[in-house]
This record gives sequence, C-alpha cells and structure tokens, in this order.
Amino acid sequence: MHKVLLLTTAVACSAGSGQVAGSDQAGDAATGSQRVAAGDIAITKVSLFQGVESVVMENGGEPEKAQAPLLADRLGMLRVHWDRLEGFADRTVVAQLTYDDPEGNPVVQELSTFVDRDSSEPVLSDTFNFDVEAATIGQGFSPTVTLLEESADVAPTGNADAGTWASGALEIEQSDSIDLVIFPIRYDADGSGRLPDTSPEQMLALADKFAATYPVTTINVIVEDPYPVDYALTSSGLGWTELLDELSSLRVRADVRENTYFYGLFEPEPTLAEFCGYGCVLGLAYLAPSTSDDWARVALGTGYSGDVTIDTALQEVGHSHGREHAPCGVSPADPQYPYPDAKIGVMGYDNIHGEMVPPSAKDFMSYCGPVWISDYTYNAILQRVQALRAPNRVAGQGGSWRRVRTDREGGLHLGDAVSLKRPPGGAPEALRVFDAEGGLLAGVTGYAYAYAGLPGGGFWIPDVPGAVSVAR
Ligand SMILES: [Zn+2]
Repeated sequence: MHKVLLLTTAVACSAGSGQVAGSDQAGDAATGSQRVAAGDIAITKVSLFQGVESVVMENGGEPEKAQAPLLADRLGMLRVHWDRLEGFADRTVVAQLTYDDPEGNPVVQELSTFVDRDSSEPVLSDTFNFDVEAATIGQGFSPTVTLLEESADVAPTGNADAGTWASGALEIEQSDSIDLVIFPIRYDADGSGRLPDTSPEQMLALADKFAATYPVTTINVIVEDPYPVDYALTSSGLGWTELLDELSSLRVRADVRENTYFYGLFEPEPTLAEFCGYGCVLGLAYLAPSTSDDWARVALGTGYSGDVTIDTALQEVGHSHGREHAPCGVSPADPQYPYPDAKIGVMGYDNIHGEMVPPSAKDFMSYCGPVWISDYTYNAILQRVQALRAPNRVAGQGGSWRRVRTDREGGLHLGDAVSLKRPPGGAPEALRVFDAEGGLLAGVTGYAYAYAGLPGGGFWIPDVPGAVSVAR
C-alpha cells in the first residue's frame, strides 16, 4: 500500500520584532569581565505557551487559577514580562534564559531589546519571547531568566534580584503523538472520480494547525490510497453516516496505535461554493465520550483547499476525542464550557505565524471564528491523549458486535458483524432482535452512540446468530 508520511512538530517562527538573539556567552570575551544584572527593571510575569498560556510566575508568586499543564517534548514559547523600576533610563536590556535539557546539557539563550515602556499583555514585542525546543523540555525543566546590562562596563546598581527569576523544577506532564490517517475519498457518485486536496502544502498546513493547537508531541499525517465511494454525499448530510460507518469498520480492523484517528476527505461538488451555496454539512464525527471506543476514532469532512477543511478537521477530530460543541453559533452545546460565546478565555500563541491569539478568539469546537483552542478544550483533549498512551488497557476480546443505525424517521437497521477489541461504551437500552420469519430471537442490551453534527446515531448490540432485524 502506497503511503505518504508527513511528519511535523510545529515549526518555531521568529520571536517578536525588535528582538535580537544573542550569543550563548554570558561573559564578555574581549575583556573577560561579566555583564551585571540590570538593577532597575523587574520580571513581573513568566509564561510558557505550548498553544495556550500557562502562567508559571506572576508578581513573584504562583497564579491563583489552575493553568494548562506543561508538556514534555512539545515546542514552547517562554514569555517574560517586565516593569521598569523608579529611575530606569531607557536602554537596551539583555534577557538570558538558562536551563538544563533532559540529558543534563546546559542551554543558554539570549535576547536583547530596547526598553522604553513596560510590558503589555497583547503586544508580543513588549516582552522577551524565547522559543524553547521540544526536545529540551522534560522532567526537571527548571528555567532561570536574568535581565542583564548589554555592556560589561556597567557597574551594578539598584536591586539585582528584581531582574532575576528562577522557576525551581516545574511540573511537567507526558503527552503522546497522534496519527491522523487521511482517506482521500474518490467521489464516483457523479461519475467524476473527484479527489480532495491532499497536496503536500494542504497536508502540511493541516498538520501545522493540529500541532500548534492540539496538546500533543507530534502529529503524523498519513495519506492513504484513494477510497472509492459510489453513493451521493449531499450538502444536507445524506450518505455521510454510511461512509462514517464504513471507515469506522476499517478503523476497528486496522492494527494501529490507540491514538490513531481516521479522517475521510471528499469533494461532492467541484467547488465549496457549489456544495455549500445553500448551507451544508462540512463535517461529521461520532461523539466519542468513552476512551474504550476505538471504533469512534473516525470522522469526515469536506476536502477543498484552504482553511475551512483544516478548521473543520480540528473540530471533527475534537468530537472523536469526546468533545461537544462550544457554545457559539451551534445548539445544543457543552453545558460545562467555561467561557461565554465560546471564547478561548486565555491568551494563546500561534507559533505558525508568530502571533499572540487574544482570549476573545473562539474555540475550534464552536461554529464561530477565528478559531484557536481554549485551555478547557486543551486540558480535555490532553486527558484523552494521555488515557490512550497505555496500549490496550482492557484485556481480552470485546467479541462480535453489530451496529444498529437509526434513520431519520427513527427506524432501526441492523449492520454487519464486527469484532471489537473491547466492549462498546454508551448508555444501555433494551432492544429485541428477530429472525427472518419475524420470530423473537432474544432481548439484548444496546449501547447508544451519537453523531456530532447530524441528528441521530445508533447502537452496538451483541451479535446474535440468525438475527436479521431489530426493534425497540
Ligand atoms: Zn461539530
């Protein structure tokens, strides 16, 4: 089978404008003397951004509100805020970041900037912003930042402690990579054989936005061979649940890691405008509330070039992680969502474009934009990723099960038998199965599942030999 494998961890882009990365020598090589700490400027806040802000220190102490966990092996941006103290004279100040990487090797990074005002929250260039490589963040990560005079000729004055911050060992959690397996749907229903955009540019843009927002170490995007579909996929959602179930059965049979998500891309019309002119379904997923439901780690979306495809995929794969909609432009929505209008609620950092993302941006689980990820969704997806790190948490076979699809009129349709690796989750409901003559074979317990994005859903029931129909 031909596969194109694209790997990415989000690429580090340049820090704020006006900052100059310096040498890694703390001393002045020409004179042998040491630069002194700047005594008239204070470090007021330090945050590590790995998608969203995690405040590490604020006004000398720990933040009151719980922060997003810091993750090992994930690219970070350490942001250092300052306040000028009384008598500060405008000048260039050097910030020196030092820490040991997980192998114990010392890392020294320097930035310098001309300081003529205090730091402000939204302005990236008003803070020192260190890109911290993924591989250097691990257990024992304990950065120190010192604000130094630019020249070694300056005598110490003021309070050198104000411009020095040492974190102590920070609490660092482990995450995991996720595999996103793309199925380019060959759309044969209209005889066109049309394929979605799986160009390297589009797939890298997709991978970059996942890597920048999802709390993972790496996104592996794997593009499969084209997958032919000869039935119509309409803008009102007809055909979508059948295709989702097909890919779900593929996912169940595949020998893949737990943190693997199948994603079907397709173009039922030549352009997005033609497909969506009168409103449309852009994506579909199962709402996957249980970590045991590997059959639910599958989703669909339109595959036209550009951001709509990417932002749709962020949301659909979010549903595959058990996330409900965030409350903006869509109802019903997650009643636990903590911020009004699906705001992300905290500062974000977009390392693709090297830009701050304001707390007023919208969570990608909503129908509003522009989108980023909230700390709430970040934490929730991280918990799922961490829960699926351990291989096969449930021992033994899940046995043979059959999917029962509900149609829009509430009718129940029995699907083929599928071997699940473990019993399905979901709310139990009593169902009855019948043989070909309409005779009652057995009463069974069905386990309900729901779609995110379309009404309806279905059940998993144990496979009963001879069953051909099912009823409530
Ligand atoms: Zn959705």
